[in-house]
Amino acid sequence: MVLHAGKGKDATRRGGSNPMLAGTDPAYAANLTLPHNHLGDDPLPPDTVLQLVRDELLLDGNARLNLATFVTTWMEPQAHELMAECVAKNMIDKDEYPQTAELERRCVNILADLWHAPDPAAVIGCSTTGSSEACMLAGMALKRRWSKLGRPGRPNLVMGANVQVCWEKFCEYWEVEPRLVPMEGDRFHLTADEAVAHCDENTIGVVAILGSTFDGSYEPVAEIAAALDALQDRTGLDIPIHVDGASGAMIAPFLDPDLEWDFRLPRVASINTSGHKYGLVYPGVGWVLWRDRAALPSELVFNVNYLGGNMPTFALNFSRPGAEVAAQYYTFVRLGREGFRAVQQACRDVATSLAERIASLGPFRLLTAGDQLPVFAFTTKPEITAFDVFCVSRRLRERGWLVPAYTFPENRTDLAVLRIVCRNGFTHDLADLLIQDLTRLLPELEQQSGPLAKPETSTAFHH
Ligand SMILES: *Cc1c(COP(=O)(O)O)cnc(C)c1O
Repeated sequence: MVLHAGKGKDATRRGGSNPMLAGTDPAYAANLTLPHNHLGDDPLPPDTVLQLVRDELLLDGNARLNLATFVTTWMEPQAHELMAECVAKNMIDKDEYPQTAELERRCVNILADLWHAPDPAAVIGCSTTGSSEACMLAGMALKRRWSKLGRPGRPNLVMGANVQVCWEKFCEYWEVEPRLVPMEGDRFHLTADEAVAHCDENTIGVVAILGSTFDGSYEPVAEIAAALDALQDRTGLDIPIHVDGASGAMIAPFLDPDLEWDFRLPRVASINTSGHKYGLVYPGVGWVLWRDRAALPSELVFNVNYLGGNMPTFALNFSRPGAEVAAQYYTFVRLGREGFRAVQQACRDVATSLAERIASLGPFRLLTAGDQLPVFAFTTKPEITAFDVFCVSRRLRERGWLVPAYTFPENRTDLAVLRIVCRNGFTHDLADLLIQDLTRLLPELEQQSGPLAKPETSTAFHH
């Protein structure tokens, strides 16, 4: 990350580039070097630049072997084609690109239907750059609804300590007290009792996560809703739920149709999802939907007329490429309900079978089994002292696998886990290869005299 513009190597370095790129002018090749900190004086030929920048990007990891990320790393060529045609379209310019706007509207309707909105016509929603922006918008709506009650205290938001970092950002940016319910023993996410116990008259809402980032487990949304119903009966406090379905809102509708977590529960005011996670689109798209206009205070919706027409907007970003929205619509049309079910089921099948096989290797204990989100976390058994999860993560990296190791939040910071996210394209065959690599590594790890890797030098990215 560049936070300051220092004097970089390009000031002194000369030569070293590929002479074949220079055509007939070797002197030019000898001086060809990529600028790091300032613009070069003159333009360069496009093919040369393409080659040089591409070469440098070789150092990036292989996304298909990245079992850390939830974000889509494969789409079919037709989707690439469509996205390439749409990158130049500015999503926000609904007057110039009314059909892109129409595709966005259709996607919102499709999600309203998938999430069982009782009155789909009342639903209001939009695309965003991802779940983070979607959560900011949902949190703002909760805060605004609370502030209309005119209560004097400081607003708070109740959620498990396992929330994704975007909720901590929301609280910091919008000056809301984060009421993080700590983990306790083997309870790694929010429960109904704990949620209610943390609520008071200044609680703007409860965030329930469908698909915890830490271990892939679903929080019990229906139980939380029932407990908040009971709280309302007892005290009159009417506290809405926002469901952070970044991953699970695109899994549960297809694989757990009987699980009630969505707008079937009257207390659920809003839901977000990441189109670029199990929505199966490349990075850059999320969605947020409110049950009805009462859940989204109208002051948050701005009407702008700069671009001709009168356009309501309630996202944080203004300009944004239209490609992701077109790709989301493509994916909805392409797969349909049955296609989505098949893709998500395949991920869950790989996750559950891989989890079982890892458990049967011997040294590991599963925290989750991959049967909710196709994601599971595991740790080493207490008797394993020769190595720890950080060693496993580091050694797997030698083969190109990115399997993050990290410690749990407050109260369970003693617990360090590995987590595997099974995504579309991570096949049983690739899972076999991972098991082979793990099996080959274990005897070496078992010969260590103790854990070698320091947690702070291991792969930490796990969001
Ligand atoms: C990934 C994730 C987010 C953030 O989503 P982005 O789309 O990456 O902005 C928020 N909440 C949960 C539960 C997540 O898994």
